[in-house]
Amino acid sequence: MKRIALLGATGSIGRQAIEIVEAHPGLELCAAASGSSPLDDVDAPLKQVGGDLTELLERAQPDVVLNAVVGFAGIHATLWALERGVDLALANKESLVAGGELALAARNRGGGRLLPVDSEHSALFQLLEGRGLEQVHSLVLTGSGGPFRGRTRDELADVTVEQALAHPTWRMGPKITVDSATLANKGLELIEAHFLFGLPYERIEVVLQPTSIVHSLVRLRDGATLAHLGYPDMRVPISYALTYPERAETPLAPLDLTSLTLQFAAPDLATFPLLALAREAGEKGGTYPCAFNAANEVAAAAFLAGRLPFLAIAEAVADALAHADGAPARDVEELLEADAAARRLVEQGLSVA
Ligand code: NAD
Ligand code: MG
Repeated sequence: MKRIALLGATGSIGRQAIEIVEAHPGLELCAAASGSSPLDDVDAPLKQVGGDLTELLERAQPDVVLNAVVGFAGIHATLWALERGVDLALANKESLVAGGELALAARNRGGGRLLPVDSEHSALFQLLEGRGLEQVHSLVLTGSGGPFRGRTRDELADVTVEQALAHPTWRMGPKITVDSATLANKGLELIEAHFLFGLPYERIEVVLQPTSIVHSLVRLRDGATLAHLGYPDMRVPISYALTYPERAETPLAPLDLTSLTLQFAAPDLATFPLLALAREAGEKGGTYPCAFNAANEVAAAAFLAGRLPFLAIAEAVADALAHADGAPARDVEELLEADAAARRLVEQGLSVA
């Protein structure tokens, strides 16, 4: 029996994870946590709403931590699992983006597995399994392009929250859905892929695949390109991470190949600047990715609250990056400081506006 601590149990990933756990006799929840929503309908021996996630994890002593918290708030749980060699099924990409170096150092000490839940990274993990990196030419991350793919900047000036939340292929929580509309999500995923797979940024490409059937690709040095296909359904990567390495059955229908359209397009970096800003932050390293993430969290939340227009999200992040010192964080306290500094900068801009 694998005992799973589910953090973010009331969210989009959390709900689907409960479905997977309930359907699998070899999995059980030993703990569940949320930020503020009640957990009354979640069946777990230990439950916690708000508070310190690492205290819950200490009590639960899980075999697997499924970190499905949204945002940088997931950082302590990510580091807790990696440091102790407890398997980490990671949906909470923000913690790896912001704390990549500290997280990898913790994993090297702890020796546990880091199993990506993000669909693109789960695909890449599967495509790369058992393969030496010397065989790999580059990674290709796919993205749908979000609800505003094909629009011009002018056409984005007064898009509403409701329009941004109407994602064409995935049903997800509000923050990641806004990030998908701005392409900040693909930017976060680029940095996530760098830390997960250890390839330099120039060997990680982003391409749009509007129907979200191709979850990512790996180009090998001999010219072969491997792709991972499936319906856009998070239950597959959740199940893969939770049942790894055995890979359990899920209730999904087999892919109907004759009804698919598989087109690819380059992302429009000028209209959606957050992807290029993320690449730049990733290449600069240090705490630039942390600043990118923090600024984006505050700006995306402000957009959702009706306090910031859509195009100002990228402007706020660019401004925060221009003012960030980017110095590497030697420990988690320094990381928290870099996160807080970038948040303050965006918040000051919001209160002036
Ligand atoms: P969501 O908003 O639906 O759910 C977030 C969950 O986190 C909720 O249960 C909330 O209570 C909890 N939470 C927030 N702050 C917390 C805190 N301080 N302590 C404990 N719990 C807290 O978000 P989601 O769409 O499920 O996304 C969760 C994570 O998974 C994000 O990092 C997202 O980028 C990633 N992800 C989601 C999807 C998806 O399909 N939803 C796909 C890929 C990656
Ligand atoms: Mg993804």
